[in-house]
Amino acid sequence: MARKQTAIESIHGMNGRIKKKHIALQQQSATSHWASTDSICQLCLRPIPTTQRDAHHLVPKSRGGVDTVILHRLCHRQIHALLTETQLARDYFTIEALRNHPELAKFIQWISRKPTHIRAAIKRSRDKGYL
Ligand SMILES: [Zn+2]
Ligand SMILES: [Zn+2]
Repeated sequence: MARKQTAIESIHGMNGRIKKKHIALQQQSATSHWASTDSICQLCLRPIPTTQRDAHHLVPKSRGGVDTVILHRLCHRQIHALLTETQLARDYFTIEALRNHPELAKFIQWISRKPTHIRAAIKRSRDKGYL
């Protein structure tokens, strides 16, 4: 009898743990879902490794902007290196305008010549590994 009671108690304890784990997993999958839908850079249109992902406010936050686009850290830096917050808020608050900026257009051309196949190659060899 005493043994049965302990068994039930330990199941309760396990349930508590499972619940906690379940919540953690849900949060994680929500994050990765966000990542998988938004992991293409809106400036250079290439995939973004998780470590290089930056959110850019199309209208600067200081001007009340809320809409963000996901960019490479490098692409993001390039935007702010070329444009002031005033210019961004007034003339470059769309991704199209940014892509048409002469210096950014040059930058996009330059960066798109850089190898993009590294991730694809990794994916392919990983697939081979599973087979
Ligand atoms: Zn980019
Ligand atoms: Zn920004």
